[in-house]
Amino acid sequence: MELNEIISREHEVVMPTYSRFNLALDHGEGALLYDVNGKEYIDLTSGIGVNSLGHNHPILTKNLENQIHKVLSTSNLYYTLPMIEAAEKVVANSGGMQKMFFANSGAEANEGAIKVARKYAADKYGKDRYQIITLTNSFHGRTIATLEATGQDHFHQNFFPFTNGFVYTPANDIDALKEAVNDQTAAIMVELIQGESGVRPLEAEFVKAIEELCNEKDILFIVDEVQTGIGRTGNLFCYQNYDILPDIVTMAKGLGAGVPIGGFLTGEKTSGVLKPGDHGTTFGGNPLAATAANTVMDIVADPEFLAEVNRKGKLFRELLNEIDSENVLDVRGQGLMIGIQVPAEKIADLIQKCMDQGVLVLKAGKDTIRLLPPLVISEDQIRQAASIIKGVIEE
Ligand SMILES: *Cc1c(COP(=O)(O)O)cnc(C)c1O
Repeated sequence: MELNEIISREHEVVMPTYSRFNLALDHGEGALLYDVNGKEYIDLTSGIGVNSLGHNHPILTKNLENQIHKVLSTSNLYYTLPMIEAAEKVVANSGGMQKMFFANSGAEANEGAIKVARKYAADKYGKDRYQIITLTNSFHGRTIATLEATGQDHFHQNFFPFTNGFVYTPANDIDALKEAVNDQTAAIMVELIQGESGVRPLEAEFVKAIEELCNEKDILFIVDEVQTGIGRTGNLFCYQNYDILPDIVTMAKGLGAGVPIGGFLTGEKTSGVLKPGDHGTTFGGNPLAATAANTVMDIVADPEFLAEVNRKGKLFRELLNEIDSENVLDVRGQGLMIGIQVPAEKIADLIQKCMDQGVLVLKAGKDTIRLLPPLVISEDQIRQAASIIKGVIEE
């Protein structure tokens, strides 16, 4: 089918909430994607950090197929083993978190985390302690509450009234954070590497200061690992790179390798907060999605696999650092979450040229090319992609 026909059919019936590239994808294999005309692309987007195992992964496909023939969804009125196994695996590899709640997306995971934090604070300190501090340039989702949690003004338009109780403070400014904290503060929620706004890692000192402040004042430390989690940064969770243990950890994107699933982990303080009836979701942790998470955990939580993510990430950044152009303002990130900062007025053109030459990349913020390749990408594919990006930027 012609691309033009696909586009005009979509415009008839699909709400125009996405500004899409002129590209219709058909199928994939590993880190490669193919469009409807058969053109091949190296996928450095993995569905925005979702397809952690690449496309058509043989073990994932087999496990999903087996589960499809058993049962897809049962509601949460009954016990099902895949969910329990997935929770066991996430908890066991979390370095000290205790319990898991399964949801269906990143925003929904964050909504749940916000509910836990507010109930914890209300139970212990009364209803006036409800504020959540988040960071400027953060991104936490598209629901009403998570839009308000997102520390970027342009997300705070059109959908009034927003939920009350979110306060913003700049990243990496310990004094400003201390000033923002008061008797109403229930939690501090951060991305350890701000993804959507430009692949900006938080400084270790700032992260440690948050942990200390939270411990001292009994404020909950929520880490949004929706993008950074599940092996993306070379550890199962990015907080493990920082040597901290949060009170709540949210996740989604990479957890199901393409099957929608999200969730959050709670720790010692927070595992007993929600009681039967306090929270729930129909699809959450259903056997199909949980089977995907189980498979991802079996593969990704292996220390050798994670070491490889680190090695490949390092290679990728080294190759990108060899680009000889004043258009590269910075190369940053961790593991296979990489940002190349370029002049804002050039970014659209660079992304389009990469696409024309068979490499799909993402944008973050106004001026950063964001790379989130499948974690299974090969060294060869990294070299090929880096060489194409180099050619496009140096041109
Ligand atoms: C993508 C993202 C979300 C939102 O996830 P959805 O699944 O789109 O709801 C939340 N937080 C972070 C850090 C993200 O990257």
